[in-house]
Amino acid sequence: MKKLAFGIAGAVALVAVIVITRTLMLGGPDAGDRTAQTPTAYDGDAIAERLSEAIRFKTISWNTQTPPDAEAFDGFAAFLTRAYPAAHGVMSRETVGGHSLIYKWAGTSAVEKPVALTAHIDVVPVETGTENLWAQPAFSGAIADGAVWGRGAMDNKGQLIAIMEAMEKLAADGFAPSRDIYLLFGHDEELGGFSGAGEIAKLLTSRGVHFEWTLDEGSGLVQGLIPGVASPVALLSIGEKGSTTLRFTASAPGGHSSAPGKDTAVSIAARAVVAVTDNPYPLELDDNIVSFLHAIAPEMPFLQRMALANLWLTGAIIKDQLADDPSTAAVLHTTTAPTIIEGGEKTNVLPQRASAFVNYRIHPRDNVDAVKERAIRLIDDERVSVEAVGGREPSPSASTSSDGYRAMEKAVARVFGEVPTTPFLTLQGTDTRHYIGLADDNYRFTPFIYQSDDLARIHGNDERVLIEDLARGAAWYETLLRETAGAP
Ligand SMILES: [Zn+2]
Repeated sequence: MKKLAFGIAGAVALVAVIVITRTLMLGGPDAGDRTAQTPTAYDGDAIAERLSEAIRFKTISWNTQTPPDAEAFDGFAAFLTRAYPAAHGVMSRETVGGHSLIYKWAGTSAVEKPVALTAHIDVVPVETGTENLWAQPAFSGAIADGAVWGRGAMDNKGQLIAIMEAMEKLAADGFAPSRDIYLLFGHDEELGGFSGAGEIAKLLTSRGVHFEWTLDEGSGLVQGLIPGVASPVALLSIGEKGSTTLRFTASAPGGHSSAPGKDTAVSIAARAVVAVTDNPYPLELDDNIVSFLHAIAPEMPFLQRMALANLWLTGAIIKDQLADDPSTAAVLHTTTAPTIIEGGEKTNVLPQRASAFVNYRIHPRDNVDAVKERAIRLIDDERVSVEAVGGREPSPSASTSSDGYRAMEKAVARVFGEVPTTPFLTLQGTDTRHYIGLADDNYRFTPFIYQSDDLARIHGNDERVLIEDLARGAAWYETLLRETAGAP
Protein backbone atom coordinates (compact mmCIF):
# COMPACT_ATOMS: atom_id res chain seq x y z
CA MET A 1 0.00 0.00 0.00
CA LYS A 2 2.79 2.33 1.03
CA LYS A 3 4.67 1.45 -2.11
CA LEU A 4 1.60 2.18 -4.23
CA ALA A 5 1.03 5.55 -2.54
CA PHE A 6 4.63 6.45 -3.14
CA GLY A 7 4.26 5.39 -6.74
CA ILE A 8 1.25 7.65 -7.20
CA ALA A 9 2.96 10.57 -5.46
CA GLY A 10 5.99 10.03 -7.69
CA ALA A 11 3.82 10.02 -10.81
CA VAL A 12 2.01 13.20 -9.72
CA ALA A 13 5.36 14.89 -9.04
CA LEU A 14 6.61 13.83 -12.46
CA VAL A 15 3.47 15.18 -14.16
CA ALA A 16 3.87 18.46 -12.26
CA VAL A 17 7.48 18.76 -13.41
CA ILE A 18 6.49 18.07 -17.04
CA VAL A 19 3.57 20.52 -16.88
CA ILE A 20 5.69 23.34 -15.46
CA THR A 21 8.68 22.68 -17.70
CA ARG A 22 6.53 22.69 -20.83
CA THR A 23 4.83 25.89 -19.68
CA LEU A 24 8.13 27.67 -19.11
CA MET A 25 9.47 26.44 -22.46
CA LEU A 26 6.74 28.42 -24.21
CA GLY A 27 7.91 31.71 -22.65
CA GLY A 28 5.82 34.48 -21.14
CA PRO A 29 3.93 37.52 -22.37
CA ASP A 30 6.79 39.92 -21.65
CA ALA A 31 9.19 38.23 -24.06
CA GLY A 32 10.21 40.11 -27.18
CA ASP A 33 9.14 43.35 -28.82
CA ARG A 34 5.44 43.22 -29.59
CA THR A 35 4.85 46.74 -30.78
CA ALA A 36 3.86 46.98 -34.39
CA GLN A 37 6.41 49.23 -36.05
CA THR A 38 4.84 51.58 -38.55
CA PRO A 39 7.41 52.01 -41.29
CA THR A 40 8.30 55.54 -42.23
CA ALA A 41 9.25 54.70 -45.82
CA TYR A 42 5.61 54.83 -46.92
CA ASP A 43 3.40 57.90 -46.95
CA GLY A 44 0.13 56.47 -45.64
CA ASP A 45 -1.89 59.55 -46.64
CA ALA A 46 -0.73 59.30 -50.25
CA ILE A 47 -1.60 55.59 -50.33
CA ALA A 48 -5.02 56.43 -48.86
CA GLU A 49 -5.68 58.89 -51.72
CA ARG A 50 -4.89 56.21 -54.28
CA LEU A 51 -7.04 53.57 -52.57
CA SER A 52 -9.83 56.13 -52.36
CA GLU A 53 -9.72 56.55 -56.13
CA ALA A 54 -9.59 52.77 -56.61
CA ILE A 55 -12.79 52.37 -54.56
CA ARG A 56 -14.67 54.90 -56.69
CA PHE A 57 -14.57 52.51 -59.69
CA LYS A 58 -17.69 50.37 -59.23
CA THR A 59 -16.08 47.08 -60.21
CA ILE A 60 -19.04 45.08 -58.91
CA SER A 61 -19.60 41.37 -59.40
CA TRP A 62 -23.42 41.16 -59.44
CA ASN A 63 -24.04 37.59 -60.56
CA THR A 64 -23.03 35.24 -63.36
CA GLN A 65 -25.87 36.52 -65.60
CA THR A 66 -24.86 40.19 -65.38
CA PRO A 67 -21.76 41.07 -67.43
CA PRO A 68 -19.13 43.18 -65.68
CA ASP A 69 -19.30 46.95 -66.19
CA ALA A 70 -16.54 47.34 -68.80
CA GLU A 71 -16.22 51.07 -68.19
CA ALA A 72 -15.53 50.58 -64.48
CA PHE A 73 -13.01 47.78 -65.00
CA ASP A 74 -11.23 49.55 -67.89
CA GLY A 75 -11.16 52.72 -65.79
CA PHE A 76 -9.59 50.80 -62.94
CA ALA A 77 -6.87 49.34 -65.18
CA ALA A 78 -6.10 52.81 -66.61
CA PHE A 79 -5.97 54.21 -63.07
CA LEU A 80 -3.31 51.64 -62.09
CA THR A 81 -1.14 52.69 -65.05
CA ARG A 82 -1.48 56.33 -64.06
CA ALA A 83 -0.96 55.84 -60.33
CA TYR A 84 2.07 53.55 -60.53
CA PRO A 85 4.35 54.80 -63.36
CA ALA A 86 7.62 53.30 -62.08
CA ALA A 87 6.02 49.85 -61.56
CA HIS A 88 4.54 49.97 -65.04
CA GLY A 89 7.97 50.89 -66.39
CA VAL A 90 9.48 47.60 -65.21
CA MET A 91 6.54 45.18 -65.55
CA SER A 92 4.67 43.88 -68.58
CA ARG A 93 0.89 43.67 -68.35
CA GLU A 94 -1.69 41.63 -70.21
CA THR A 95 -5.45 41.46 -69.91
CA VAL A 96 -7.05 38.02 -69.57
CA GLY A 97 -10.68 36.88 -69.57
CA GLY A 98 -11.94 40.38 -70.30
CA HIS A 99 -10.80 42.32 -67.24
CA SER A 100 -8.28 40.30 -65.25
CA LEU A 101 -4.64 41.41 -65.23
CA ILE A 102 -1.34 39.55 -65.28
CA TYR A 103 1.73 41.61 -64.44
CA LYS A 104 5.20 40.19 -64.88
CA TRP A 105 8.47 41.62 -63.64
CA ALA A 106 11.20 39.56 -65.31
CA GLY A 107 13.96 38.36 -63.00
CA THR A 108 17.68 38.02 -63.67
CA SER A 109 17.94 34.31 -62.80
CA ALA A 110 16.71 31.63 -65.16
CA VAL A 111 17.01 29.03 -62.40
CA GLU A 112 14.82 30.30 -59.57
CA LYS A 113 11.11 29.57 -59.85
CA PRO A 114 8.78 32.58 -60.15
CA VAL A 115 6.48 33.71 -57.33
CA ALA A 116 3.03 35.31 -57.57
CA LEU A 117 1.12 37.82 -55.46
CA THR A 118 -2.60 37.64 -56.15
CA ALA A 119 -5.59 39.85 -55.35
CA HIS A 120 -8.96 40.60 -56.92
CA ILE A 121 -10.35 43.71 -58.55
CA ASP A 122 -14.06 42.97 -58.16
CA VAL A 123 -16.20 43.70 -55.12
CA VAL A 124 -19.56 42.48 -53.87
CA PRO A 125 -22.56 44.80 -54.32
CA VAL A 126 -24.01 46.87 -51.50
CA GLU A 127 -27.24 45.18 -50.48
CA THR A 128 -30.28 47.19 -51.56
CA GLY A 129 -31.77 49.05 -48.62
CA THR A 130 -28.52 49.14 -46.61
CA GLU A 131 -26.94 52.12 -48.42
CA ASN A 132 -28.03 54.55 -45.71
CA LEU A 133 -26.61 52.38 -42.94
CA TRP A 134 -23.07 53.26 -44.03
CA ALA A 135 -21.29 56.07 -42.12
CA GLN A 136 -19.78 57.10 -45.47
CA PRO A 137 -21.31 56.42 -48.91
CA ALA A 138 -20.13 52.94 -49.99
CA PHE A 139 -18.40 53.99 -53.21
CA SER A 140 -17.15 57.40 -52.06
CA GLY A 141 -13.72 56.24 -50.92
CA ALA A 142 -14.06 58.75 -48.08
CA ILE A 143 -10.96 59.30 -45.96
CA ALA A 144 -11.97 59.89 -42.35
CA ASP A 145 -10.97 58.86 -38.83
CA GLY A 146 -7.63 57.45 -39.97
CA ALA A 147 -9.25 55.08 -42.46
CA VAL A 148 -10.31 54.75 -46.09
CA TRP A 149 -13.99 53.81 -46.31
CA GLY A 150 -15.90 51.96 -48.97
CA ARG A 151 -16.77 48.68 -50.60
CA GLY A 152 -13.55 46.84 -51.39
CA ALA A 153 -11.40 48.74 -48.85
CA MET A 154 -10.55 45.39 -47.24
CA ASP A 155 -11.90 42.89 -49.75
CA ASN A 156 -9.77 43.26 -51.73
CA LYS A 157 -8.64 46.59 -53.20
CA GLY A 158 -6.71 47.53 -50.04
CA GLN A 159 -4.53 44.48 -50.53
CA LEU A 160 -4.15 45.10 -54.27
CA ILE A 161 -3.11 48.71 -53.63
CA ALA A 162 -0.62 47.66 -50.91
CA ILE A 163 0.96 45.27 -53.45
CA MET A 164 1.17 48.01 -56.11
CA GLU A 165 2.70 50.46 -53.61
CA ALA A 166 5.46 47.95 -52.84
CA MET A 167 6.11 47.37 -56.55
CA GLU A 168 6.26 51.11 -57.19
CA LYS A 169 8.81 51.61 -54.42
CA LEU A 170 10.94 48.65 -55.49
CA ALA A 171 10.92 49.88 -59.10
CA ALA A 172 11.76 53.45 -58.06
CA ASP A 173 14.62 52.11 -55.89
CA GLY A 174 16.12 50.34 -58.91
CA PHE A 175 15.44 46.88 -57.47
CA ALA A 176 16.28 44.05 -59.90
CA PRO A 177 14.45 40.87 -58.89
CA SER A 178 16.47 37.68 -59.09
CA ARG A 179 13.38 35.72 -60.13
CA ASP A 180 10.21 36.51 -62.08
CA ILE A 181 7.56 38.20 -59.97
CA TYR A 182 3.95 37.90 -61.15
CA LEU A 183 0.92 39.82 -59.97
CA LEU A 184 -2.36 38.03 -60.75
CA PHE A 185 -5.44 40.22 -60.34
CA GLY A 186 -8.73 38.40 -61.02
CA HIS A 187 -11.93 40.26 -61.88
CA ASP A 188 -14.66 37.81 -60.76
CA GLU A 189 -13.43 36.24 -57.51
CA GLU A 190 -16.76 36.99 -55.86
CA LEU A 191 -18.45 34.78 -58.48
CA GLY A 192 -16.00 31.89 -58.20
CA GLY A 193 -13.20 33.29 -60.34
CA PHE A 194 -13.92 31.10 -63.37
CA SER A 195 -13.54 33.85 -66.03
CA GLY A 196 -10.64 35.56 -64.25
CA ALA A 197 -8.30 33.42 -62.16
CA GLY A 198 -9.52 30.32 -64.01
CA GLU A 199 -8.47 31.76 -67.39
CA ILE A 200 -5.21 33.12 -65.94
CA ALA A 201 -4.38 29.62 -64.67
CA LYS A 202 -5.13 28.05 -68.07
CA LEU A 203 -2.94 30.56 -69.88
CA LEU A 204 0.00 30.20 -67.47
CA THR A 205 -0.29 26.41 -67.58
CA SER A 206 -0.15 26.47 -71.39
CA ARG A 207 3.06 28.49 -71.09
CA GLY A 208 4.58 26.04 -68.64
CA VAL A 209 4.77 28.59 -65.82
CA HIS A 210 5.18 26.96 -62.41
CA PHE A 211 5.47 29.05 -59.26
CA GLU A 212 7.46 28.32 -56.14
CA TRP A 213 4.52 29.87 -54.30
CA THR A 214 1.43 32.00 -54.74
CA LEU A 215 0.10 34.32 -52.04
CA ASP A 216 -3.58 35.34 -51.93
CA GLU A 217 -6.13 36.82 -49.51
CA GLY A 218 -7.82 34.46 -47.05
CA SER A 219 -6.17 35.12 -43.71
CA GLY A 220 -4.35 37.91 -41.89
CA LEU A 221 -3.31 39.26 -38.52
CA VAL A 222 -6.06 39.18 -35.93
CA GLN A 223 -6.24 41.21 -32.75
CA GLY A 224 -8.78 40.98 -29.94
CA LEU A 225 -10.38 37.87 -31.44
CA ILE A 226 -8.70 35.40 -29.12
CA PRO A 227 -9.73 35.82 -25.47
CA GLY A 228 -6.73 36.63 -23.27
CA VAL A 229 -4.42 37.49 -26.18
CA ALA A 230 -3.79 41.23 -26.59
CA SER A 231 -1.06 41.04 -29.24
CA PRO A 232 -1.87 40.74 -32.94
CA VAL A 233 -1.47 37.13 -34.11
CA ALA A 234 -0.35 36.47 -37.69
CA LEU A 235 -2.29 33.59 -39.23
CA LEU A 236 -0.50 32.35 -42.36
CA SER A 237 -2.99 30.19 -44.12
CA ILE A 238 -1.60 27.02 -45.70
CA GLY A 239 -4.87 25.44 -46.83
CA GLU A 240 -8.45 26.07 -47.77
CA LYS A 241 -11.54 24.04 -46.95
CA GLY A 242 -13.46 22.35 -49.73
CA SER A 243 -17.24 22.14 -49.96
CA THR A 244 -20.09 20.04 -51.26
CA THR A 245 -23.85 19.94 -50.96
CA LEU A 246 -25.58 16.59 -50.65
CA ARG A 247 -29.18 16.12 -51.72
CA PHE A 248 -31.06 13.45 -49.78
CA THR A 249 -34.14 12.30 -51.70
CA ALA A 250 -36.65 10.20 -49.77
CA SER A 251 -39.31 8.06 -51.49
CA ALA A 252 -42.43 6.46 -49.99
CA PRO A 253 -45.87 5.24 -51.14
CA GLY A 254 -48.48 7.97 -51.53
CA GLY A 255 -52.11 7.89 -50.46
CA HIS A 256 -54.63 9.70 -48.31
CA SER A 257 -53.38 11.13 -45.03
CA SER A 258 -56.28 9.51 -43.17
CA ALA A 259 -54.59 6.10 -43.33
CA PRO A 260 -50.81 6.69 -43.27
CA GLY A 261 -48.16 4.01 -42.89
CA LYS A 262 -45.39 4.46 -40.33
CA ASP A 263 -43.47 6.92 -42.53
CA THR A 264 -44.02 9.41 -45.31
CA ALA A 265 -41.32 10.78 -47.59
CA VAL A 266 -41.23 13.83 -45.32
CA SER A 267 -40.51 11.89 -42.13
CA ILE A 268 -37.88 9.78 -43.92
CA ALA A 269 -36.10 12.88 -45.23
CA ALA A 270 -36.28 14.51 -41.81
CA ARG A 271 -34.76 11.42 -40.19
CA ALA A 272 -31.93 11.44 -42.73
CA VAL A 273 -31.12 15.03 -41.77
CA VAL A 274 -31.17 14.16 -38.08
CA ALA A 275 -28.88 11.18 -38.73
CA VAL A 276 -26.13 13.43 -40.09
CA THR A 277 -26.61 16.35 -37.69
CA ASP A 278 -26.63 14.04 -34.67
CA ASN A 279 -23.31 12.61 -35.82
CA PRO A 280 -21.11 15.61 -36.56
CA TYR A 281 -17.54 15.11 -37.70
CA PRO A 282 -15.25 14.70 -34.69
CA LEU A 283 -13.19 17.73 -33.71
CA GLU A 284 -9.47 17.11 -33.96
CA LEU A 285 -6.53 19.03 -32.58
CA ASP A 286 -4.24 18.40 -35.55
CA ASP A 287 -0.69 19.73 -36.05
CA ASN A 288 -1.98 23.08 -37.34
CA ILE A 289 -4.19 23.66 -34.33
CA VAL A 290 -1.43 22.60 -31.95
CA SER A 291 0.97 25.09 -33.63
CA PHE A 292 -1.71 27.75 -33.32
CA LEU A 293 -2.33 27.04 -29.62
CA HIS A 294 1.40 26.95 -28.89
CA ALA A 295 1.91 30.24 -30.76
CA ILE A 296 -0.72 32.11 -28.73
CA ALA A 297 0.12 30.46 -25.40
CA PRO A 298 3.05 32.77 -24.50
CA GLU A 299 0.62 35.73 -24.74
CA MET A 300 -1.70 34.29 -22.11
CA PRO A 301 -1.84 34.43 -18.31
CA PHE A 302 0.08 31.64 -16.54
CA LEU A 303 -2.83 29.24 -15.97
CA GLN A 304 -4.08 29.33 -19.56
CA ARG A 305 -0.50 29.10 -20.77
CA MET A 306 -0.04 26.02 -18.61
CA ALA A 307 -3.15 24.43 -20.11
CA LEU A 308 -2.03 25.14 -23.70
CA ALA A 309 1.52 23.98 -23.06
CA ASN A 310 0.21 20.63 -21.86
CA LEU A 311 -2.29 19.56 -24.48
CA TRP A 312 -1.34 15.94 -23.79
CA LEU A 313 -3.19 16.45 -20.49
CA THR A 314 -5.72 19.18 -21.31
CA GLY A 315 -6.52 18.44 -24.99
CA ALA A 316 -10.06 17.23 -24.34
CA ILE A 317 -11.00 20.32 -22.26
CA ILE A 318 -9.45 22.72 -24.80
CA LYS A 319 -11.32 20.95 -27.58
CA ASP A 320 -14.61 21.40 -25.72
CA GLN A 321 -13.91 25.10 -25.31
CA LEU A 322 -13.06 25.54 -29.00
CA ALA A 323 -16.22 23.64 -29.91
CA ASP A 324 -18.37 26.22 -28.09
CA ASP A 325 -17.72 28.87 -30.74
CA PRO A 326 -18.94 27.85 -34.22
CA SER A 327 -16.16 29.79 -35.96
CA THR A 328 -13.37 28.06 -34.04
CA ALA A 329 -15.14 24.69 -34.21
CA ALA A 330 -15.23 25.08 -38.00
CA VAL A 331 -11.43 25.01 -38.12
CA LEU A 332 -11.34 21.66 -36.30
CA HIS A 333 -13.58 19.58 -38.52
CA THR A 334 -15.78 19.20 -41.58
CA THR A 335 -19.00 21.08 -40.85
CA THR A 336 -22.55 19.83 -41.53
CA ALA A 337 -25.28 22.38 -42.29
CA PRO A 338 -28.78 21.36 -43.48
CA THR A 339 -29.93 24.37 -45.50
CA ILE A 340 -33.07 23.39 -47.49
CA ILE A 341 -35.82 20.83 -46.91
CA GLU A 342 -38.77 20.44 -49.22
CA GLY A 343 -41.55 17.97 -49.96
CA GLY A 344 -45.30 17.49 -49.95
CA GLU A 345 -47.95 19.60 -51.67
CA LYS A 346 -51.23 19.15 -49.83
CA THR A 347 -51.90 18.83 -46.13
CA ASN A 348 -54.09 15.73 -46.65
CA VAL A 349 -51.94 13.89 -49.22
CA LEU A 350 -49.09 11.55 -48.27
CA PRO A 351 -46.00 12.87 -50.08
CA GLN A 352 -44.17 10.37 -52.28
CA ARG A 353 -40.98 12.39 -52.46
CA ALA A 354 -39.17 14.80 -50.17
CA SER A 355 -35.66 16.12 -50.32
CA ALA A 356 -33.17 17.88 -48.11
CA PHE A 357 -29.97 19.71 -48.95
CA VAL A 358 -27.03 19.58 -46.57
CA ASN A 359 -24.02 21.82 -47.13
CA TYR A 360 -20.63 20.51 -45.97
CA ARG A 361 -17.42 22.53 -45.66
CA ILE A 362 -14.73 19.93 -45.99
CA HIS A 363 -11.62 19.85 -43.80
CA PRO A 364 -8.40 18.97 -45.69
CA ARG A 365 -8.30 15.54 -44.02
CA ASP A 366 -11.65 14.61 -45.69
CA ASN A 367 -12.85 14.69 -49.31
CA VAL A 368 -16.08 14.95 -51.32
CA ASP A 369 -16.50 11.20 -51.91
CA ALA A 370 -15.80 10.33 -48.29
CA VAL A 371 -18.37 12.89 -47.12
CA LYS A 372 -21.02 11.27 -49.34
CA GLU A 373 -20.09 7.73 -48.25
CA ARG A 374 -20.28 8.73 -44.58
CA ALA A 375 -23.73 10.28 -45.05
CA ILE A 376 -25.04 7.12 -46.76
CA ARG A 377 -23.66 5.01 -43.90
CA LEU A 378 -25.21 7.22 -41.22
CA ILE A 379 -28.62 7.44 -42.90
CA ASP A 380 -28.60 3.67 -43.48
CA ASP A 381 -31.97 3.69 -45.25
CA GLU A 382 -32.56 2.32 -48.76
CA ARG A 383 -35.49 4.66 -49.22
CA VAL A 384 -33.10 7.61 -49.28
CA SER A 385 -30.85 8.32 -52.24
CA VAL A 386 -27.86 10.58 -51.71
CA GLU A 387 -26.22 12.61 -54.44
CA ALA A 388 -23.59 15.33 -54.44
CA VAL A 389 -24.70 18.60 -56.04
CA GLY A 390 -21.37 20.10 -57.06
CA GLY A 391 -18.25 19.84 -54.98
CA ARG A 392 -14.84 21.28 -54.48
CA GLU A 393 -12.09 19.29 -52.84
CA PRO A 394 -10.15 20.93 -50.00
CA SER A 395 -6.79 22.28 -51.05
CA PRO A 396 -3.60 20.41 -50.35
CA SER A 397 -1.64 21.81 -47.39
CA ALA A 398 1.26 24.10 -48.18
CA SER A 399 4.61 23.59 -46.49
CA THR A 400 5.48 25.38 -43.24
CA SER A 401 9.19 24.73 -43.71
CA SER A 402 9.60 26.14 -47.23
CA ASP A 403 11.75 29.20 -48.00
CA GLY A 404 8.53 31.03 -48.90
CA TYR A 405 6.86 30.37 -45.56
CA ARG A 406 10.02 31.42 -43.70
CA ALA A 407 10.28 34.61 -45.76
CA MET A 408 6.66 35.47 -44.88
CA GLU A 409 7.32 34.81 -41.19
CA LYS A 410 10.43 36.97 -41.33
CA ALA A 411 8.55 39.81 -43.04
CA VAL A 412 5.91 39.68 -40.29
CA ALA A 413 8.62 39.98 -37.60
CA ARG A 414 10.31 42.89 -39.40
CA VAL A 415 7.17 44.91 -39.96
CA PHE A 416 4.92 43.96 -37.03
CA GLY A 417 7.50 43.12 -34.36
CA GLU A 418 7.77 39.75 -32.64
CA VAL A 419 4.07 38.84 -32.84
CA PRO A 420 3.03 35.17 -32.73
CA THR A 421 2.93 33.68 -36.22
CA THR A 422 1.23 30.37 -36.94
CA PRO A 423 -0.11 28.29 -39.81
CA PHE A 424 -3.87 28.42 -40.28
CA LEU A 425 -6.77 27.18 -42.42
CA THR A 426 -8.94 29.41 -44.63
CA LEU A 427 -12.65 28.65 -44.24
CA GLN A 428 -13.96 30.49 -47.33
CA GLY A 429 -13.13 29.99 -51.00
CA THR A 430 -10.59 32.26 -52.76
CA ASP A 431 -9.21 32.61 -56.30
CA THR A 432 -6.38 30.32 -55.16
CA ARG A 433 -8.59 27.32 -55.92
CA HIS A 434 -7.62 27.94 -59.58
CA TYR A 435 -3.90 28.13 -58.82
CA ILE A 436 -3.59 24.75 -57.09
CA GLY A 437 -1.19 22.67 -59.18
CA LEU A 438 0.36 25.81 -60.62
CA ALA A 439 2.67 26.19 -57.61
CA ASP A 440 4.66 24.10 -55.15
CA ASP A 441 2.83 25.90 -52.33
CA ASN A 442 -0.25 28.15 -52.13
CA TYR A 443 -0.43 30.57 -49.21
CA ARG A 444 -3.12 33.03 -48.11
CA PHE A 445 -2.32 36.06 -45.98
CA THR A 446 -3.24 39.75 -46.00
CA PRO A 447 -0.75 41.86 -43.99
CA PHE A 448 -3.47 43.93 -42.27
CA ILE A 449 -4.52 43.74 -38.61
CA TYR A 450 -8.18 42.73 -38.31
CA GLN A 451 -9.99 43.75 -35.12
CA SER A 452 -13.06 41.87 -33.95
CA ASP A 453 -15.50 44.36 -35.52
CA ASP A 454 -13.77 44.21 -38.91
CA LEU A 455 -15.06 40.77 -39.85
CA ALA A 456 -18.66 42.00 -40.07
CA ARG A 457 -17.57 44.84 -42.37
CA ILE A 458 -16.32 42.45 -45.06
CA HIS A 459 -19.30 41.98 -47.43
CA GLY A 460 -21.26 44.03 -44.82
CA ASN A 461 -21.68 47.73 -43.98
CA ASP A 462 -18.95 50.28 -43.19
CA GLU A 463 -16.12 48.37 -44.84
CA ARG A 464 -12.93 50.33 -44.23
CA VAL A 465 -9.20 49.90 -43.84
CA LEU A 466 -6.91 51.84 -41.51
CA ILE A 467 -4.31 54.03 -43.21
CA GLU A 468 -1.60 52.61 -40.94
CA ASP A 469 -2.53 49.12 -42.16
CA LEU A 470 -2.04 50.20 -45.77
CA ALA A 471 1.45 51.57 -45.04
CA ARG A 472 2.49 48.52 -43.00
CA GLY A 473 0.98 46.23 -45.63
CA ALA A 474 3.00 47.82 -48.43
CA ALA A 475 6.15 47.53 -46.28
CA TRP A 476 5.37 43.88 -45.66
CA TYR A 477 5.13 43.06 -49.39
CA GLU A 478 8.34 44.99 -50.05
CA THR A 479 10.17 43.11 -47.27
CA LEU A 480 8.85 39.78 -48.55
CA LEU A 481 9.98 40.46 -52.13
CA ARG A 482 13.42 41.70 -51.08
CA GLU A 483 13.78 38.54 -49.00
CA THR A 484 12.51 36.26 -51.80
CA ALA A 485 13.85 37.89 -54.95
CA GLY A 486 16.71 40.05 -53.69
CA ALA A 487 20.30 39.64 -54.82
CA PRO A 488 21.87 36.63 -53.05
ZN1 LIG B 1 -11.99 38.66 -51.46
